[in-house]
Amino acid sequence: MTLKGKTALVTGSTSGIGLGIAARLAQAGANVVVNGFGDIDAAVRELSVHGTRIGHHGADMAQPEQIAEMIAYVEREFGSLDILVNNAGIQHVAALEDFPVERWNAIIAINLSSVFHTTRLALPGMRQRGWGRILNIASTHGLVASAGKSAYVAAKHGVIGLTKTTALETATTAITCNAICPGWVLTPLVQQQIDARIAAGASPEQARHDLLAEKQPSLDFVTADQLGELALFLCSEAAAQVRGAAWNMDGGWVAQ
Ligand code: NAD
Repeated sequence: MTLKGKTALVTGSTSGIGLGIAARLAQAGANVVVNGFGDIDAAVRELSVHGTRIGHHGADMAQPEQIAEMIAYVEREFGSLDILVNNAGIQHVAALEDFPVERWNAIIAINLSSVFHTTRLALPGMRQRGWGRILNIASTHGLVASAGKSAYVAAKHGVIGLTKTTALETATTAITCNAICPGWVLTPLVQQQIDARIAAGASPEQARHDLLAEKQPSLDFVTADQLGELALFLCSEAAAQVRGAAWNMDGGWVAQ
Protein backbone atom coordinates (compact mmCIF):
# COMPACT_ATOMS: atom_id res chain seq x y z
CA MET A 1 0.00 0.00 0.00
CA THR A 2 1.27 3.47 -0.80
CA LEU A 3 0.37 6.85 0.64
CA LYS A 4 2.47 8.60 -2.01
CA GLY A 5 1.09 12.07 -2.69
CA LYS A 6 -0.87 12.19 0.58
CA THR A 7 -0.02 14.52 3.45
CA ALA A 8 -0.50 13.53 7.07
CA LEU A 9 -0.58 15.83 10.08
CA VAL A 10 0.17 14.02 13.34
CA THR A 11 -0.37 16.16 16.43
CA GLY A 12 1.95 15.49 19.37
CA SER A 13 4.40 13.58 17.20
CA THR A 14 7.71 14.55 18.78
CA SER A 15 7.69 11.37 20.88
CA GLY A 16 5.86 8.17 21.74
CA ILE A 17 2.81 6.96 19.83
CA GLY A 18 2.59 10.02 17.55
CA LEU A 19 6.19 9.62 16.40
CA GLY A 20 5.63 5.87 15.80
CA ILE A 21 2.53 6.52 13.68
CA ALA A 22 4.24 9.38 11.80
CA ALA A 23 7.18 7.07 10.99
CA ARG A 24 4.91 4.33 9.62
CA LEU A 25 2.96 6.79 7.46
CA ALA A 26 6.20 8.32 6.12
CA GLN A 27 7.56 4.83 5.41
CA ALA A 28 4.38 4.17 3.40
CA GLY A 29 5.11 7.26 1.29
CA ALA A 30 3.17 10.06 3.01
CA ASN A 31 4.49 13.55 3.51
CA VAL A 32 4.25 14.25 7.23
CA VAL A 33 3.84 17.38 9.33
CA VAL A 34 5.18 16.96 12.87
CA ASN A 35 3.82 18.86 15.87
CA GLY A 36 4.60 18.83 19.58
CA PHE A 37 6.67 20.31 22.37
CA GLY A 38 9.47 17.73 22.34
CA ASP A 39 12.61 17.70 20.17
CA ILE A 40 11.02 18.65 16.85
CA ASP A 41 14.35 18.71 14.95
CA ALA A 42 15.16 15.15 16.07
CA ALA A 43 11.68 13.98 14.99
CA VAL A 44 12.07 15.66 11.58
CA ARG A 45 15.53 14.04 11.16
CA GLU A 46 14.15 10.61 12.15
CA LEU A 47 11.22 10.86 9.71
CA SER A 48 13.30 12.26 6.84
CA VAL A 49 15.09 8.91 6.27
CA HIS A 50 12.00 7.68 4.40
CA GLY A 51 12.55 10.23 1.61
CA THR A 52 9.18 12.00 1.79
CA ARG A 53 8.67 15.66 2.60
CA ILE A 54 8.60 16.37 6.34
CA GLY A 55 7.37 19.68 7.79
CA HIS A 56 6.74 20.87 11.29
CA HIS A 57 4.52 23.30 13.15
CA GLY A 58 4.77 24.16 16.83
CA ALA A 59 1.07 24.91 17.48
CA ASP A 60 -0.02 24.60 21.09
CA MET A 61 -3.00 22.25 20.89
CA ALA A 62 -4.66 24.14 23.74
CA GLN A 63 -4.90 27.27 21.52
CA PRO A 64 -7.59 27.25 18.79
CA GLU A 65 -5.95 30.15 16.85
CA GLN A 66 -2.64 28.29 16.71
CA ILE A 67 -4.44 25.13 15.56
CA ALA A 68 -6.06 27.15 12.75
CA GLU A 69 -2.63 28.51 11.75
CA MET A 70 -1.24 24.97 11.64
CA ILE A 71 -4.04 23.60 9.42
CA ALA A 72 -3.61 26.60 7.09
CA TYR A 73 0.17 25.98 7.04
CA VAL A 74 -0.30 22.33 6.00
CA GLU A 75 -2.77 23.14 3.23
CA ARG A 76 -0.70 26.08 1.97
CA GLU A 77 2.74 24.43 2.08
CA PHE A 78 1.78 20.84 1.17
CA GLY A 79 -1.29 21.47 -1.01
CA SER A 80 -3.58 19.21 1.02
CA LEU A 81 -4.26 17.68 4.41
CA ASP A 82 -5.38 14.12 3.69
CA ILE A 83 -4.67 12.21 6.90
CA LEU A 84 -5.30 13.86 10.26
CA VAL A 85 -4.01 11.99 13.30
CA ASN A 86 -5.24 13.60 16.52
CA ASN A 87 -2.71 12.28 19.01
CA ALA A 88 -1.46 15.07 21.30
CA GLY A 89 -2.35 14.34 24.89
CA ILE A 90 -1.42 14.91 28.50
CA GLN A 91 -2.26 13.18 31.76
CA HIS A 92 -2.72 14.16 35.40
CA VAL A 93 -3.55 11.77 38.22
CA ALA A 94 -5.39 13.01 41.33
CA ALA A 95 -8.61 12.29 43.22
CA LEU A 96 -11.61 14.35 42.07
CA GLU A 97 -11.71 16.51 45.20
CA ASP A 98 -8.03 17.36 44.78
CA PHE A 99 -7.99 17.67 40.99
CA PRO A 100 -6.47 21.05 40.07
CA VAL A 101 -9.01 23.04 38.00
CA GLU A 102 -6.21 24.29 35.75
CA ARG A 103 -5.18 20.64 34.97
CA TRP A 104 -8.82 19.73 34.21
CA ASN A 105 -9.09 22.64 31.77
CA ALA A 106 -5.74 21.81 30.12
CA ILE A 107 -6.63 18.12 29.65
CA ILE A 108 -10.04 18.91 28.17
CA ALA A 109 -8.47 21.51 25.85
CA ILE A 110 -5.55 19.38 24.63
CA ASN A 111 -7.07 15.87 24.69
CA LEU A 112 -10.62 16.71 23.53
CA SER A 113 -11.29 20.25 22.24
CA SER A 114 -8.23 20.17 19.94
CA VAL A 115 -9.82 17.21 18.12
CA PHE A 116 -12.93 19.30 17.48
CA HIS A 117 -10.82 22.19 16.16
CA THR A 118 -8.52 20.18 13.87
CA THR A 119 -11.47 18.16 12.53
CA ARG A 120 -13.75 21.13 11.81
CA LEU A 121 -10.87 22.90 10.03
CA ALA A 122 -9.59 19.87 8.07
CA LEU A 123 -12.97 18.61 6.84
CA PRO A 124 -13.72 21.30 4.19
CA GLY A 125 -10.50 20.50 2.30
CA MET A 126 -11.07 16.74 2.60
CA ARG A 127 -14.63 17.14 1.29
CA GLN A 128 -13.39 19.29 -1.60
CA ARG A 129 -10.79 16.67 -2.59
CA GLY A 130 -13.18 13.77 -1.91
CA TRP A 131 -10.91 11.69 0.35
CA GLY A 132 -9.71 11.75 3.92
CA ARG A 133 -8.73 9.77 6.97
CA ILE A 134 -9.19 11.04 10.53
CA LEU A 135 -7.63 8.92 13.26
CA ASN A 136 -8.28 9.90 16.84
CA ILE A 137 -5.89 8.41 19.36
CA ALA A 138 -8.23 7.84 22.28
CA SER A 139 -7.38 5.17 24.89
CA THR A 140 -8.79 2.22 26.76
CA HIS A 141 -9.75 5.08 29.07
CA GLY A 142 -12.21 6.11 26.36
CA LEU A 143 -14.01 2.81 26.96
CA VAL A 144 -13.57 2.15 30.68
CA ALA A 145 -12.50 4.29 33.63
CA SER A 146 -9.77 4.23 36.27
CA ALA A 147 -9.79 6.03 39.59
CA GLY A 148 -7.71 9.21 39.72
CA LYS A 149 -8.02 10.02 36.02
CA SER A 150 -11.31 11.96 35.86
CA ALA A 151 -10.26 14.54 33.29
CA TYR A 152 -8.42 12.07 31.07
CA VAL A 153 -11.29 9.54 31.16
CA ALA A 154 -13.87 12.25 30.47
CA ALA A 155 -11.80 13.64 27.57
CA LYS A 156 -11.15 10.21 26.02
CA HIS A 157 -14.81 9.15 26.30
CA GLY A 158 -15.59 12.49 24.62
CA VAL A 159 -13.12 11.75 21.81
CA ILE A 160 -14.91 8.47 21.07
CA GLY A 161 -18.28 10.27 20.95
CA LEU A 162 -16.84 12.92 18.64
CA THR A 163 -15.36 10.15 16.45
CA LYS A 164 -18.82 8.62 16.02
CA THR A 165 -20.46 11.94 15.13
CA THR A 166 -17.68 12.75 12.64
CA ALA A 167 -18.11 9.29 11.09
CA LEU A 168 -21.86 9.83 10.69
CA GLU A 169 -21.47 13.29 9.18
CA THR A 170 -19.02 11.88 6.59
CA ALA A 171 -20.70 8.49 6.13
CA THR A 172 -21.58 8.90 2.44
CA THR A 173 -18.13 10.25 1.50
CA ALA A 174 -14.66 8.69 1.12
CA ILE A 175 -13.67 10.36 4.38
CA THR A 176 -13.55 8.02 7.38
CA CYS A 177 -13.08 8.76 11.06
CA ASN A 178 -12.08 6.17 13.65
CA ALA A 179 -10.59 6.04 17.12
CA ILE A 180 -7.70 3.88 18.24
CA CYS A 181 -7.72 2.84 21.89
CA PRO A 182 -4.27 1.78 23.09
CA GLY A 183 -3.65 0.09 26.41
CA TRP A 184 -0.31 0.77 28.16
CA VAL A 185 2.45 1.87 25.77
CA LEU A 186 5.84 2.63 27.31
CA THR A 187 6.15 6.31 26.34
CA PRO A 188 7.19 9.41 28.37
CA LEU A 189 3.51 9.81 29.40
CA VAL A 190 3.46 6.34 31.02
CA GLN A 191 7.05 6.51 32.28
CA GLN A 192 5.87 9.41 34.52
CA GLN A 193 3.37 7.02 36.14
CA ILE A 194 6.05 4.33 36.62
CA ASP A 195 8.35 6.98 38.13
CA ALA A 196 5.59 7.95 40.60
CA ARG A 197 5.47 4.30 41.78
CA ILE A 198 9.28 4.24 42.10
CA ALA A 199 9.13 7.46 44.13
CA ALA A 200 6.59 5.73 46.39
CA GLY A 201 9.12 2.95 47.10
CA ALA A 202 8.77 0.32 44.35
CA SER A 203 11.79 -1.00 42.42
CA PRO A 204 11.78 -0.18 38.67
CA GLU A 205 10.92 -3.82 37.78
CA GLN A 206 8.16 -3.97 40.42
CA ALA A 207 6.74 -0.60 39.32
CA ARG A 208 6.59 -1.73 35.68
CA HIS A 209 5.09 -5.12 36.59
CA ASP A 210 2.46 -3.66 38.95
CA LEU A 211 1.36 -1.02 36.44
CA LEU A 212 0.80 -3.72 33.80
CA ALA A 213 -0.71 -6.31 36.18
CA GLU A 214 -3.45 -3.93 37.35
CA LYS A 215 -4.90 -3.50 33.84
CA GLN A 216 -3.19 -5.35 31.01
CA PRO A 217 -3.57 -9.17 31.08
CA SER A 218 -0.77 -9.73 28.54
CA LEU A 219 1.68 -8.20 31.06
CA ASP A 220 3.40 -6.66 28.08
CA PHE A 221 3.35 -3.15 26.62
CA VAL A 222 1.68 -2.32 23.30
CA THR A 223 4.29 -0.70 21.02
CA ALA A 224 4.15 2.47 18.94
CA ASP A 225 5.20 0.34 15.93
CA GLN A 226 2.14 -1.90 16.36
CA LEU A 227 -0.10 1.17 16.58
CA GLY A 228 1.58 2.52 13.44
CA GLU A 229 0.55 -0.65 11.56
CA LEU A 230 -3.07 -0.27 12.75
CA ALA A 231 -3.07 3.40 11.71
CA LEU A 232 -1.77 2.43 8.27
CA PHE A 233 -4.52 -0.18 7.90
CA LEU A 234 -7.17 2.41 8.79
CA CYS A 235 -5.73 4.63 6.02
CA SER A 236 -6.05 1.83 3.45
CA GLU A 237 -8.90 1.21 1.00
CA ALA A 238 -9.54 -2.10 2.80
CA ALA A 239 -10.69 0.02 5.75
CA ALA A 240 -12.98 2.26 3.65
CA GLN A 241 -16.07 0.95 5.48
CA VAL A 242 -14.55 1.01 8.97
CA ARG A 243 -16.40 4.06 10.26
CA GLY A 244 -16.87 5.34 13.78
CA ALA A 245 -15.00 2.42 15.34
CA ALA A 246 -13.21 2.57 18.68
CA TRP A 247 -10.54 -0.04 18.00
CA ASN A 248 -8.72 -1.27 21.07
CA MET A 249 -5.14 -2.59 20.96
CA ASP A 250 -4.63 -3.19 24.63
CA GLY A 251 -3.21 -6.58 25.63
CA GLY A 252 -6.71 -7.65 26.72
CA TRP A 253 -7.43 -4.65 29.01
CA VAL A 254 -11.09 -4.10 28.05
CA ALA A 255 -11.85 -7.82 27.54
CA GLN A 256 -12.03 -8.19 31.33
P1 NAD B 1 3.95 11.41 24.90
O1 NAD B 1 4.03 12.23 26.14
O2 NAD B 1 5.13 10.61 24.45
O3 NAD B 1 3.51 12.30 23.65
C1 NAD B 1 2.58 13.32 23.76
C2 NAD B 1 2.84 14.28 22.63
O4 NAD B 1 1.91 15.36 22.75
C3 NAD B 1 4.24 14.91 22.68
O5 NAD B 1 4.72 15.09 21.38
C4 NAD B 1 3.98 16.25 23.36
O6 NAD B 1 4.96 17.22 23.05
C5 NAD B 1 2.64 16.57 22.73
N1 NAD B 1 1.91 17.60 23.43
C6 NAD B 1 1.57 17.68 24.74
N2 NAD B 1 0.91 18.83 24.99
C7 NAD B 1 0.83 19.49 23.81
C8 NAD B 1 0.25 20.72 23.41
N3 NAD B 1 -0.37 21.54 24.27
N4 NAD B 1 0.37 21.08 22.11
C9 NAD B 1 1.02 20.30 21.21
N5 NAD B 1 1.56 19.11 21.53
C10 NAD B 1 1.47 18.72 22.82
O7 NAD B 1 2.66 10.51 25.12
P2 NAD B 1 2.07 9.23 24.38
O8 NAD B 1 1.95 8.18 25.40
O9 NAD B 1 2.78 8.95 23.09
O10 NAD B 1 0.61 9.77 24.09
C11 NAD B 1 0.12 10.06 22.82
C12 NAD B 1 -1.40 9.90 22.83
O11 NAD B 1 -1.72 8.54 23.09
C13 NAD B 1 -2.11 10.73 23.90
O12 NAD B 1 -3.32 11.25 23.38
C14 NAD B 1 -2.38 9.70 24.99
O13 NAD B 1 -3.49 10.06 25.75
C15 NAD B 1 -2.65 8.47 24.15
N6 NAD B 1 -2.49 7.21 24.86
C16 NAD B 1 -1.29 6.84 25.43
C17 NAD B 1 -1.19 5.61 26.07
C18 NAD B 1 0.09 5.12 26.69
O14 NAD B 1 0.07 4.08 27.37
N7 NAD B 1 1.21 5.78 26.49
C19 NAD B 1 -2.30 4.77 26.14
C20 NAD B 1 -3.49 5.18 25.57
C21 NAD B 1 -3.57 6.39 24.93
